[in-house]
Amino acid sequence: MKRMNFEGNRVLMRVDFNVPLNADFDITDDTRIRKALPTIQHVLDEGGSVILMSHLGRPLKKLKADGSIDRDKFTLRHVVAHLADLLKRPVRFANDTIGEEAVAKSARLKPGEVLVLENTRFNKGEKSGDQDFAKALANLGDVYINDAFGTAHRAHASTTQVASYFDTDKKGFGFLIEREIENADKVLHNPPRPLAAIVGGAKVSDKILLLEKLLSSVDILIIGGGMAYTFMKAQGGSVGKSLVEEDKLDLALDLLEKAKKNGVELLLPADSMVADDFSADANHKVSSSSEIEPGWMGLDIGPRAIDDFSRAIGKAKCMLWNGPMGVFEMDAFSSGTKAIAQAVADATKAGAFSLVGGGDSVAAVTQMNLADQVSFVSTGGGAMLEYLEGKELPGIKAIRG
Ligand code: AMP
Repeated sequence: MKRMNFEGNRVLMRVDFNVPLNADFDITDDTRIRKALPTIQHVLDEGGSVILMSHLGRPLKKLKADGSIDRDKFTLRHVVAHLADLLKRPVRFANDTIGEEAVAKSARLKPGEVLVLENTRFNKGEKSGDQDFAKALANLGDVYINDAFGTAHRAHASTTQVASYFDTDKKGFGFLIEREIENADKVLHNPPRPLAAIVGGAKVSDKILLLEKLLSSVDILIIGGGMAYTFMKAQGGSVGKSLVEEDKLDLALDLLEKAKKNGVELLLPADSMVADDFSADANHKVSSSSEIEPGWMGLDIGPRAIDDFSRAIGKAKCMLWNGPMGVFEMDAFSSGTKAIAQAVADATKAGAFSLVGGGDSVAAVTQMNLADQVSFVSTGGGAMLEYLEGKELPGIKAIRG
C-alpha cells in the first residue's frame, strides 16, 4: 500500500462497511468504518480519489413480501453522513453500483474526493462472482485496493474477480488486510517457540481443519470449550449431557494420536464447571471432566484446568487463541475464558507474541478490556480461521497471484 502510486488516480476500494443499524437505520457500532479510515485517508493524502464499495447485510436473502429488494433497509446511503463526519470532507453517493450514475459520478471524481457506491449485494453478480459485473466495477477505477479482510474468503465479484482487470502494479491490499496477513503469518511461518494454540468454542466439527493444521505446527495444543467433551468421551470418560459430537469420536482419537506422534503437548481440561441446565442461573459445581454425573453438563473449564492451561500459556513464546473456554456469555460460566484471556495478556507482557482471532474469543478479549494487552486481535472471523487453516483465500490470491 505504501509503495503504490495513487496520485491523480481513481482508486476503487473494497471496504467492509457492513455495520449494525438500529430500527431508525442509525449506525450502532461504527468500528468497521473507523478501521477503514487509514487506508482511505492515505489515498486521499497521496492525491488520489476514492470509490468505495461494500456489502451491507443480505438484501437478496431478505427480500420484501413482493419479492423486491428492501432498498430503504439495505442502502449504503446509511453510512454516508457518518463517513463524511469522520473524514471531515463531503462524501458523494451513487444510487447504483455499475449503472449510469456510478459511471458518471466516478468519472467526475477529482483528487481528494470520495464516492460511495450502492450496496454491491443488490446485484446478483456480486455473490456469484460474475465476470461481467466485476468488469463493469473495474471500469470505474484506475487502481484497485481490497481492504475487506472479513470477506476475503469469499470469491465475490468485488473481492476477487474484479482484481483480474487490473495490472499487478495497479492492485494491492489496504492497511487492514496487510496487518491481518502480517500477524497471521507470524504464527504460521517460523514462529518463536514454544508455539501454543488455545482452541475452544462449541464444536469440534467447526475446527477440524484448524486442529489438523495446528497439530503439525504447534508445540502445545490446549483444547477447551464445548469441543473438549467429545475428546473426553472418545477416551472413555463420562461426560453427562455435555455437548458431544458422536460422529466425531473417531476423529478425536485420530487427533489425539497425531498429537502423540508429532510430540505435541496436548492439554484437555482436567476439571469443569458443570451445570444441571444450559442456563445462566443453573445449579453448578466443579467436577472432574471425565467423571461428569448423568444430568450434568460441562459449561466451563474448572480451577485445575485454569491452572494447567495458564501454566502452559506462560511457557509459550508465540500463541494463537481461537474460541472461548466455556459459555462465557453467561456470567457463571465465564471464569475460564476470563482467566485464559488474562494468561494470554500476561504472557504478552512477558514478551510473547499473541494473536486472538477467528472466533468468539475476540468478543471475549474485547469484553474483558484486554484487547490492547494482546499483540493482535483479528477482526477477520471466518476469513482468519480459513487463513490459519492454511487455505488460500480467493480475495488474497486475486491480488498476490
Ligand atoms: P466459536 O464461535 O467456535 O468460537 O464458539 C463460541 C461458542 O461456543 C460460544 O457461543 C460459547 O457459548 C460456546 N461454548 C463454549 N463452551 C461451551 C460448552 N462447554 N458447551 C456449550 N457451548 C459452549
